[in-house]
Amino acid sequence: TIQVKPATESKPKAEKTGPPKYGIEIRKQPIAKGNGHLTVSDSKFPGNTPLHSYKIFKFQQPVAPVRAERYSVSTMEGALTARDRVGVQDFVLLEEYKSENAFIFNLKKRFKEKLIYTYIGSVLVSVNPYQQLSFYTQYHMEKYQGVNFYEMPPHVYAIADNVYRSMRNESCDQCILISGESGAGKTEASKYILQYLSVCSTSNEQVGHIKSQLLQSNPVLEAFGNAKTHRNDNSSRFGKYMDIQFDYKGAPVGGHILNYLLEKSRVVHQASGERNFHIFYQLMEGSDEKMLRKLCLEKTPDTYFYTNQGKCAKVRSINDRKDFIAVQKALKVLEFSEQQIDNLFEIVASVLHLGNVNFSANDEGNAVVQNDHVVQKVSILLGCDLDQLLQALTHRTIEANKEKMQSPLAVDQAVYARDALAKAVYGRMFNWLVESLNGSLTNKDVKRRSLIGLLDIYGFEIFKSNSFEQFCINFCNEKLQQLFIQLTLKQEQEEYRSEGIEWEPVEYFNNKVICDLVEERHKGIIDILDEECLRPGDASDKTFLKKLEETVGEHKHFVTHALGDAKMRKTIGYEEFRLIHYAGEVTYSIEGFLDKNNDLLFRDLKETMSKATNEIIKSVFPTSELARLKRPETVGSQFRTSLNKLMDILMSKEPSYVRCIKPNDAKMSDRFDDNLVRHQVKYLGLMENLRVRRAGFAYRRTYDVFLKRYKSLCPKTWPRWDGPAKEGVALLCKHIDYADGDYRLGKTKIFIRFPKTLFATEDAFQIR
Ligand code: ADP
Ligand code: MG
Repeated sequence: TIQVKPATESKPKAEKTGPPKYGIEIRKQPIAKGNGHLTVSDSKFPGNTPLHSYKIFKFQQPVAPVRAERYSVSTMEGALTARDRVGVQDFVLLEEYKSENAFIFNLKKRFKEKLIYTYIGSVLVSVNPYQQLSFYTQYHMEKYQGVNFYEMPPHVYAIADNVYRSMRNESCDQCILISGESGAGKTEASKYILQYLSVCSTSNEQVGHIKSQLLQSNPVLEAFGNAKTHRNDNSSRFGKYMDIQFDYKGAPVGGHILNYLLEKSRVVHQASGERNFHIFYQLMEGSDEKMLRKLCLEKTPDTYFYTNQGKCAKVRSINDRKDFIAVQKALKVLEFSEQQIDNLFEIVASVLHLGNVNFSANDEGNAVVQNDHVVQKVSILLGCDLDQLLQALTHRTIEANKEKMQSPLAVDQAVYARDALAKAVYGRMFNWLVESLNGSLTNKDVKRRSLIGLLDIYGFEIFKSNSFEQFCINFCNEKLQQLFIQLTLKQEQEEYRSEGIEWEPVEYFNNKVICDLVEERHKGIIDILDEECLRPGDASDKTFLKKLEETVGEHKHFVTHALGDAKMRKTIGYEEFRLIHYAGEVTYSIEGFLDKNNDLLFRDLKETMSKATNEIIKSVFPTSELARLKRPETVGSQFRTSLNKLMDILMSKEPSYVRCIKPNDAKMSDRFDDNLVRHQVKYLGLMENLRVRRAGFAYRRTYDVFLKRYKSLCPKTWPRWDGPAKEGVALLCKHIDYADGDYRLGKTKIFIRFPKTLFATEDAFQIR
C-alpha cells in the first residue's frame, strides 16, 4: 500500500532524476516491487494540480523526466487524489451536487489554495483572486496548447484553447460568453483569452499587425468606456461583443466589435467615490502644456463639474498619465489619423467645459448663460457658431401652426439640455470610436473565415435602488440565461445522441415567460413604456406604472404595491414595480423611466452640432437626422433590437461559458464572503447549470483516457491491452463490478452516473 500525500509534506530525500523542467520538478522515490514512484511538484504553477505523489506502474526503469511528465501531470486524477484538501476541480464530481453549501464550500476551499478556476463540465467558473497569479505566463500559454481539455488544471486558457481547436477542426464558429457581476473578473478574463488566441494562433508578419491591433483596441475602449466605481476601479460601463476572424489556416485576420448601452449618465453625474470615464482624467493628467493650452484645459479635475462630483479624481490603482500614453500609442497602432486624434480630445475637453456652463434666471424667469466665455471654449473646440450654441442652450424651437417659434427655457430645462448635449456628444463619439476601430480591424480579403466571438457583458444587478438601467441590464441577463439553458440542454442532448445513449429529459425552469413579459410586442413592458413616451399630454412615470398594472398586472412575474398582498405591500413602494427574475426579485423605481427611455436631445442642439467643423461631431450629428420626421427609436426598443440581434449571432455559434464570481466587496485577495458568493451562484444560475449537467451522467471520458488510468485494476487489461479501448473498458467495468445502471458505454466514451462510482474506482486504484 502506498500512502498518497501531498509532496510538499514529504521532505525531498530522494534522488533527483531530472532538472526542473518547465517548472515541474520530478523526483523518483524508491518503492516496493520495483514500481516507479514519482513525486511531482510544480513550484511555478500554483494553479496546477495540487502537489501530490503518483505511483506509476508503467515504468520499471528509472523514469525520464519528459515521459514522467506526460504520464503524471494529468489532472482529473490529481483532483481526485487531493479532493479533500482542494475540493473537486469539476463540480460534476461533487457528491452533494444539489447542495448550494457544498458548492460554495468547494469554491472556497479552492480559492484558499489560489485555485480560482473550477469546471461545471465544460463551463468555467472563475473567482476573482484580487492578486496577480503566476499562471498567466508565456510558458503556461504554451502548456495549454492542443492538450485534452481535462488533462490540465481548469484554466481560462483551456477554454480558449478548446474553442480555438474546435473552430479549426470543425470549422464551426465559436463564442465565449463571459458573465458575472461588476468586478468579478470578466474583462480580465476576456483579455487573457484574447491574448491566448493571439499567442497560440498561426502567425506571420501581416497577421502580427492585426494581432496587435486586436490587442490595442482594449486600452482605447477602456479609456473611453471604463470608469472607477465602488465595485471596480476599472469597471466597463458598456457591454461588448467582439468577433475575431480567422482565415482557413487559423491565423487571425480581423475583428469586429459591437457595443451595448454605454452608461452615458456617468458623463454628467458621478456618485461620491466614483469617477467619470478614465479619458477625462487621463487627458488632464497626461497632456503636455501645449496640448492643455490648445484644449483650454486646467490640469485639475476639481475645476470641472463633470469630474469633481465624485471627489476622488486620484485613484491609487490607476496611473492616468501612463494610461494616457498607452492610449495614444494604441490609437496610432489602430491607424487613427493625427486629425482624428485631435478631434477626439477636443470633444473630450469640450464636454468638460460644457459641464461648467452655468445658467441664471432673467427677470422673466428664463435661463441665460452666466459664463459665455466657457461656452466660447466649447464652440472653439467643436468648431460651431457661438451665438447659435448660446441660443440653443437656452431656447428651443417649437412649431405651431406651421410657424417656427423660439421658446425660452427655464433654468432647470437649460441644465437638462446642457447635460443631454454632453451625454449625446460623448455617447455618439463613443459609437464613432467603435465604428472606427471596426474600420481598422476589418479585413478586406474575402477568404473563408471562421469566427470566435467574445461577449463581455454586465451581469445581473440588484442594487438598493434600481432604475431603468438595471431594468435593461437584467433583461439582457434574462435573455442570456434563456440562451444558456437552451444551448446547454441542446449540447447535452447532442452529446447523448452522438454517443448513442438514450436521452433522459431534464426538468428546468424556462424563463421565456419573463423575457416575454419584458419584450413582447404591444403587451410587454418595453412597448408599454414606449406608448407612454409617445403619448402627448399628461404621460408621466406614474401613468406608466398605472398602464403596467392594467396591462401586465395579471402576470405571475410582475407585482406592484397595488397588486401585492398585505405582506408584499410593506416591501414595495407606491412608485415601484417588482419583477420576479429567474435570479431573484428586483424592485424597480419608476422615476426617470420615461426620460431615460426617450433620451431626448432638443433639435436646436442637434442642428448646431450638425454644423460643427469638428469632423467627428459633424459625422455623428448628420443633417439627415434633422430631416427625419419619425421620432428616433427609444432606448428600450433599440436595446431590445440589438439584444435580439446578439441572440441570433450567439445562436449561430457553438458557445462556451466563463462564469465570474467576486469573492468579496473589499477587493481583497484573502477574503471569501460566503453570502456574497451565494448570491452570485444564484444569479448566474450555476446550481441549475450543474443540475442539468448532472441530470444524466456526472462523468464522461473517452475510452483511451479511462483505460490508461485504470487498466491496472483488471488482470485482463493489465499490463497491456491491445484490443479496441472500448472493449478494454467494458471488461474493466465488468471486472470491478459496476452496477448496470451506473454506467453506459457510448460510441467513444464511458458515461458514469454518480461520482461515488468513480471515486471508489479511484480509491481502489490508489491503494492497489
Ligand atoms: P469586471 O469586468 O467583471 O467588472 P474586471 O475584469 O475589470 O471585472 O476585474 C476587476 C479587477 O479585479 C481587475 O482590475 C483586477 O484588479 C482584478 N482581477 C480580475 N481578474 C483577475 C485575475 N484573473 N487575476 C488577477 N486580478 C484579477
Ligand atoms: Mg468589465
